[in-house]
Amino acid sequence: MKYIYSFGNGTADGTAKMKNVLGGKGANLAEMNHLGIPVPPGFTITTDVCTHYYKHDLVFPEELKSQTADALKNVETIMDSSFGDKENPLLISVRSGARQSMPGMMETVLNVGLTSVTIPGLIAKTGNPRFVYDAYRRLITMYADVVMEKAAGIEPAEGQGVRQKLEQILDLFKKENGLEKDTDLSGDQMQEITETYKKEIKNTLGSDFPDDPSAQLWGGVEAVFKSWNGARAISYRRIENIPDEWGTAVNVQAMVFGNMGDDSATGVAFTRNPATGENQFYGEWLANAQGEDVVAGLRTPNPLNEATKTADTQHLPSLESSMPELYSKLAEIRTNLENHYTDMQDIEFTIQEGRLWMLQTRVGKRNGSAAIKMAVDMVDEGLINKNTALLRVKPEQLDELLHPMIDPESEKNADVLAKGLPAGPGGAKGRLTFTADDAESWHQNGEEVILIREETSPEDVHGMHAAEAILTAKGGMTSHAALVARGWGKCCIVGCGDLHIKLDEKEVNIGNTVLKEGDWITMNGTVGKIYQGQLNLIPANPDTHKEYKDLMAWADEVRTLKIRTNADSPDDASQARTFGAQGIGLCRTEHMFFDEERILAVRKMILADNTKDKRSAVMELLPFQKKDFKGILAAMENLPVTIRLLDPPLHEFMTLSDDQMAELAESVGVEKSDVAKRVAELHELNPMLGHRGCRLGVAYPEITEMQARAIIEAGVELTQEGKTVYPEIMIPLVGTVTEYLNQEKIIRSVAESILSEANVKLDYTVGTMIELPRACLTADEIAEYAEFFSFGTNDLTQTTYGFSRDDIGGFLPEYLDKKILAHDPFQSLDIKGVGKLVSMAVELGRGVNSGLKIGICGEHGGDPASIHFCKENGLDYVSCSPFRVPVARLAAAQAEL
Ligand code: PEP
Ligand code: MG
Repeated sequence: MKYIYSFGNGTADGTAKMKNVLGGKGANLAEMNHLGIPVPPGFTITTDVCTHYYKHDLVFPEELKSQTADALKNVETIMDSSFGDKENPLLISVRSGARQSMPGMMETVLNVGLTSVTIPGLIAKTGNPRFVYDAYRRLITMYADVVMEKAAGIEPAEGQGVRQKLEQILDLFKKENGLEKDTDLSGDQMQEITETYKKEIKNTLGSDFPDDPSAQLWGGVEAVFKSWNGARAISYRRIENIPDEWGTAVNVQAMVFGNMGDDSATGVAFTRNPATGENQFYGEWLANAQGEDVVAGLRTPNPLNEATKTADTQHLPSLESSMPELYSKLAEIRTNLENHYTDMQDIEFTIQEGRLWMLQTRVGKRNGSAAIKMAVDMVDEGLINKNTALLRVKPEQLDELLHPMIDPESEKNADVLAKGLPAGPGGAKGRLTFTADDAESWHQNGEEVILIREETSPEDVHGMHAAEAILTAKGGMTSHAALVARGWGKCCIVGCGDLHIKLDEKEVNIGNTVLKEGDWITMNGTVGKIYQGQLNLIPANPDTHKEYKDLMAWADEVRTLKIRTNADSPDDASQARTFGAQGIGLCRTEHMFFDEERILAVRKMILADNTKDKRSAVMELLPFQKKDFKGILAAMENLPVTIRLLDPPLHEFMTLSDDQMAELAESVGVEKSDVAKRVAELHELNPMLGHRGCRLGVAYPEITEMQARAIIEAGVELTQEGKTVYPEIMIPLVGTVTEYLNQEKIIRSVAESILSEANVKLDYTVGTMIELPRACLTADEIAEYAEFFSFGTNDLTQTTYGFSRDDIGGFLPEYLDKKILAHDPFQSLDIKGVGKLVSMAVELGRGVNSGLKIGICGEHGGDPASIHFCKENGLDYVSCSPFRVPVARLAAAQAEL
């Protein structure tokens, strides 16, 4: 079996299409060779080796060693040097590369091959002992951290890792010798550092740093494979839904050095601006540095070119002005790559002594706003077609455009506490937490948090996900935190040098201000400003985004599924309409009962012991309800509005304190003990399966009657005012056709009498929610009478699984962890089980009533995967919360493509 794919010198065994085997990085390194782009030669060890390694108790396939030896020979020939050679040594890098990019989640070891034998040779060859010992120092640091500590499963306390210890040695050395920067150290000093490093490693980890090139190579390879199952990689995979079985590839490549002097450099760039989407070559670079210096954010990088300089970077040298010829070569490669891949690329390059090498290209992460702009621009430029553009934007990314911004009025009067780089746009506020674990646990306790860190560390990924926003003291726009935040569309500010974080004390000093854990801050990620306390956040207005409007118009051309909204106030209805909602799929009426004046009538009804009193209490609600329905129907003029009859168990209206009981007793004219008795009677062991839904309407037909009357009278009055409205009256939680018929009869008789009396024609319909398994199983019986079905997949999931929708939080994390469930079934529809019931109900229902209108109004209506399912199963519409409407429009378009 072929376990190794070589590349170099303009040829390659693999291609960009082979990501499954070669990982993203390996496949693209191969492809760049085919495109004639200069890439240091190397080879990729396939993901099959990773799979084999885990399947066979951490043992490699037998042929791997000999295939590696052959591939290494090939690299040696191209580079005209030999691995481990005394005079002319080849150095190599060992890097991870999964199918889908997982920035910073797995390991890298650079400068592999430096030993007591090869060091003198390399010094003789380069004449630069400082460079060689600096490279050696970096190798020792990475190797100790990645191979000897992490891959060995050693878990030091935070801040106590071997890497930190080695960095402390360097810092101390610089301080004692009055040196400021790493570059101030002489060759001898660097050598001295490497000796101290090796002693510290022996001390801390109990074994020696290996002085054998082959041991270094295999240690590195194994560490990369092990990092696939490292805590942060696993955590990232969970969040991004990357299957554990994929495994990573390993790329072994000849080293090129950006730190060989002033004609050397290294950088990271995007073929378009990943924060705004502008068609502008955008990146960061450092002279005389290695790639890790840019990405780790340890030195503040320079802007790539003149056009992208900002007020803050105006004084820094651009690559364009410092090395114009190499810059124009790089710009040519940029065009070449964009034309070839027809998508924005994230590239890494190194310049070694005036020669340009490309180390990586991959599809670049971008935030939502940039994703939309790029997709639409690329259609205008003729690079891609509209359908491709629609598929380029993840529906979730639209969310960002709809996310809050800081209210400019409140921002105007606020004092800026600090400024950093605007890595992730939008506004956010939260309470400060200093570690990822704290951020996660505070978040789980319902707190809004902001994660503040010294540096951008991939170990923080779970805390970054839990946080409203991320703030770091170090790092640039291409740093790890910036990339990850952008991928998630999170507000993020990096490189905020004014922060002096004291991790031990969990506090941060900013000038004279001291903030502690739990203190509130507000961040403007669009401009990089940080404020103390809480500022107002306001929703964004996506309509000001031209490309968004274009893209949504294309989505609407393509999709056949209609998008409605769940709304129970005229404001929500109008908001949803501006987002493109084509009606209301669920108007829950229970919220309308909680108003102070109304709740009294509800409670009177509940306390009444005879039909007459019950009825008169209920009818007190009629004028209120009519007003509610008029408002909503008017806000959705010309569009259908599904109004659901009262659904929750009555005890929800009777949570009363002692004083409230007394008050109620007095206002109704009964004894307090009577009220207490009635409250006790309403107690149910299992209210979700108790006296709720249409069971209420059966016991209290006057509620159904009142609500039907309110809806129809509202419709009549609006019609008389010249408006066209389409009320759809929905009966909840039906399990038998007889329940449906019981309620339908009340509704139709009320409606018909009102309409004939008013002599008005109103296009109203009566239908039901399908949210119980029995309703699905007998959907044909129900569909004989119902004019529409709306799947209430919240209750349907609850009753199909037997999971309480309110209590699943108690065991769901363990279920996800142990992979008993792949995802939360209340978020994304369980297609196998609940979905089967939905499909069955659609088929049975349409079998007897071909014109049956069918939609979904559970939370799943806003979930892209569930929307795909709805489209495939012939539903007419999905209904979701107003802010999910644009997401659903795009997801529905993608479901067609
Ligand atoms: C449902 O059950 O899916 C539904 C939409 O109704 P509710 O969430 O109000 O129970
Ligand atoms: Mg329900």
